[in-house]
Amino acid sequence: MLRYPRPLQRVIEELERLPGIGPKSAQRLAFALLRRNPADVRALGEALTALPDAVTRCRECFNYAEGELCPVCAEASRDRTLLCVVAEAADVMAIERANDYRGLYHVLGGLLSPLDGVGPDDLTIPQLLARVERLRPTEIILATSPSVEGDATAEHLRQVLVAAGFTHITRPALGLPVGAELDYADQVTLVRALQGRREM
Ligand code: ZN
Repeated sequence: MLRYPRPLQRVIEELERLPGIGPKSAQRLAFALLRRNPADVRALGEALTALPDAVTRCRECFNYAEGELCPVCAEASRDRTLLCVVAEAADVMAIERANDYRGLYHVLGGLLSPLDGVGPDDLTIPQLLARVERLRPTEIILATSPSVEGDATAEHLRQVLVAAGFTHITRPALGLPVGAELDYADQVTLVRALQGRREM
């Protein structure tokens, strides 16, 4: 059987391991890389090589960071009485782009999903509780998505936070659109959803 040259085959195999990329997409991407300017392909390779060591998790909120603290936690002017809990770092980006919220965040690293074997200890929930004890925020906003898993995660968090003595817990009133690909209209919805939050 005819095979691609080994270096090309290797790139295809590595690309195939990424989420959402099947064998055909991996092949198409590898060919596209071969057609590009060699300097551009090397620049991509250098960026990928630097990635694992250069990007860390913020030791406070688990947002992506370069170093100990993320830009939000490092900013002295943030309102430290407000804590917004989100599923992923992309959600922090989305809310920050809407440019309205001035409090802190906590990134869970996913949502509770018993069917996929994701329990409370697989997320940063123990760290959230420790942080809440230390920060004593006046309000905790549970901004997980309005999906089955997002609602279940918010309800679990509400219960453990109430058990820890925190009662001012809110949830965005409307479905909060989150993620990396928000356009301007979604940002308006996002601001409204956060401003119209209600007690849980
Ligand atoms: Zn942080």
